[in-house]
Amino acid sequence: MKPLSSLQNLVQALRHLPGIGPKSAQRIAYHLLQHDRDGALELSKALSDAANRVRHCVRCNTFTEDEICDMCRDPERDASLLCVTETPADQMMIEQTLTFRGYYFVLMGSLSPLDGIGPKEIRFDKLIERATDGVVKEVILATSFNNEGEATAHYIGEMLKALGLRVSRLARGVPVGAELEYVDVGTIARAFLDRRLT
Ligand code: ZN
Repeated sequence: MKPLSSLQNLVQALRHLPGIGPKSAQRIAYHLLQHDRDGALELSKALSDAANRVRHCVRCNTFTEDEICDMCRDPERDASLLCVTETPADQMMIEQTLTFRGYYFVLMGSLSPLDGIGPKEIRFDKLIERATDGVVKEVILATSFNNEGEATAHYIGEMLKALGLRVSRLARGVPVGAELEYVDVGTIARAFLDRRLT
């Protein structure tokens, strides 16, 4: 079989992007090669740099280029509070509310049995280890208010309560079905302050 041409190869590779099918991949490839070679080179460098350098913080599991991320190294935070989010974007949203000064754990996803995402895939083992360091007193579940987020919060909540931790969940006010990242900062701030024990 003839090896793929560079162009075919590029179209194939672009299909790794979420939501990009064959047609869109071809359109992107043509666009970059015809109109934006500099952009294409910049993209290729940024992708390879990020893919080679970015890893997971050993404490909170978020993306970082160091062993421990900046936020986990901040000594001014309240170590008795641990907030669990699904994504780094959700974590940033909560930071922007300026209502929370504890530490975070980022799951990098939510439970979704239909997609084959179970407790192992979202690093519950790492979360348990982090939450049971003897210093954390309350775990705040800030997963999204859609089915996956609720199921994840329930599962984690039960597990951590069984280990003797206080567990709270963001209050409603965040619309049902909402992905946290897309909720306005004020609503999240309110939900944080009104959080309730589960
Ligand atoms: Zn960290």
